[in-house]
Amino acid sequence: MVAFAFSENTVNLAYVFAAVCFVFGIKMLSSPTTARWGNRVSAAGMLVAVAFTLTLAEVDRYWLVAAGLALGAVLGAPAARLVKMTAMPQMVALLNGAGGGAAALVASAEFHRLAPLPGDLPADTLVASLASALIGGVTLSGSIVAFAKLQELVSGRPVTFQHQQAANAAVLAVALLCAVAAGLTEERFWVVPLVGAALVFGVLFVIPIGGADMPVVIAVLNAFSGLSGVAAGFVLDNNALIIGGTLVGASGTLLTLLMARAMGRSVANVVFGAFGQVAVAPGTAATVDGAVRATTPDDVAVMLAYAKRVVIVPGYGLAVAQAQHDVRKLADELERRRVDVRYAIHPVAGRMPGHMNVLLAEANVPYDQLYEMDRINPEFEQVDVALVVGANDVTNPAARNEPGSPIYGMPILDVDHAKSVVVLKRSMNPGFAGIDNPLYADPKTAMLFGDAKVSVAALVDAVKSV
Ligand code: NDP
Repeated sequence: MVAFAFSENTVNLAYVFAAVCFVFGIKMLSSPTTARWGNRVSAAGMLVAVAFTLTLAEVDRYWLVAAGLALGAVLGAPAARLVKMTAMPQMVALLNGAGGGAAALVASAEFHRLAPLPGDLPADTLVASLASALIGGVTLSGSIVAFAKLQELVSGRPVTFQHQQAANAAVLAVALLCAVAAGLTEERFWVVPLVGAALVFGVLFVIPIGGADMPVVIAVLNAFSGLSGVAAGFVLDNNALIIGGTLVGASGTLLTLLMARAMGRSVANVVFGAFGQVAVAPGTAATVDGAVRATTPDDVAVMLAYAKRVVIVPGYGLAVAQAQHDVRKLADELERRRVDVRYAIHPVAGRMPGHMNVLLAEANVPYDQLYEMDRINPEFEQVDVALVVGANDVTNPAARNEPGSPIYGMPILDVDHAKSVVVLKRSMNPGFAGIDNPLYADPKTAMLFGDAKVSVAALVDAVKSV
């Protein structure tokens, strides 16, 4: 028992302060100029919430808390420092899983502790603990499968089998029945099959989803982890947990909606089994008709050096090649020649929202040169060269022109409206959607084949010698 326990009112006041920090911190994350401070402000809020929680009278066994903190710090700090930017989706998957797992554990422990004491388990605590065990269990196992797929520990391909939807529904029904039985009987036993069925459902929920669609699933699991946190907050009667969980649940839901919209798909289509199953209807796929023109760094360098306006379009290939620093050098070289250089950012370029912003920020690209899709699209007609670095689907005109295309309706960057287009990629292989890109056969497009980092470095040298 701590000697300097604060009153519940004081602790709740600290929680209000923490909540204000969370909200302002999240708001600050919406701009690259304030994002770092946003992180710090939110972290400070969390520190205050945790510190004041530790002063609550019911908290004892500090050695256990200290051991948990030490273990978390030993695992978390190096992970945060060492994980590569391209591995961020799987890192987030693990964090979601940890959140969901913690909520399920807390809820199960509280149910276990209170269930045998008649009258000690009010209806709201009962419902909240069972909801937290269910949602937390799904989040934990679903996130572990998502992590394993993204980390390529298991195949990233969708795993499908006959009557899959029915099997999923049956397992979910078992979990719900166990929850009802636990609620009606207040028997500790029922929590075990409840959590077991929730874990199985989490696995079944994620396995039909394909590798590169995982970021959307991760946003969904992020929302689930928030919801399980809210339920755990009600179980423990802890306002900070309720507020924090609500914010995570709401932001995960908004992120899911934004990603679905940016991919031109409905959330229902995303959630009910279309992940990674981008079916190409026979005879309707975009095709590359006509010859593709290959070019050399020297030719591209001349085009760039004598251009007035160049727009760089980064995509997943830039992240794979880690070409962001070379791209920045190229832009510097062009600006020295008074070329106006901008970057066009598509909301789902790369494999997670904000992927390109983060990479370009790493190379200290000035924020005012980054243009969101809606802002840059009307300008492409005045652009002399659109330099597409490892982007594919987000530039595919089939999304605009071919109603049968699997990506029809997805908003794209209108690079084909520029006066000339240069595409940097290694081969004619498709991007994530698995379809051809008619842009490559456009007479004004030239292809510079090769790893993006090598190609951009060659362009820097070639521009210097123009
Ligand atoms: P794409 O996946 O469409 O294309 C990437 C291209 O990069 C490939 O065509 C590949 O061609 C090329 N590439 C790969 N490695 C290299 C390299 N080392 N050097 C040069 N080129 C390379 O990427 P986009 O960014 O255009 O589009 C993202 C896709 O991901 C969209 O379909 C989007 O819907 C999807 N998605 C995005 C999410 C997000 O949040 N950002 C979430 C879920 C899905 P090649 O092999 O020939 O080199």
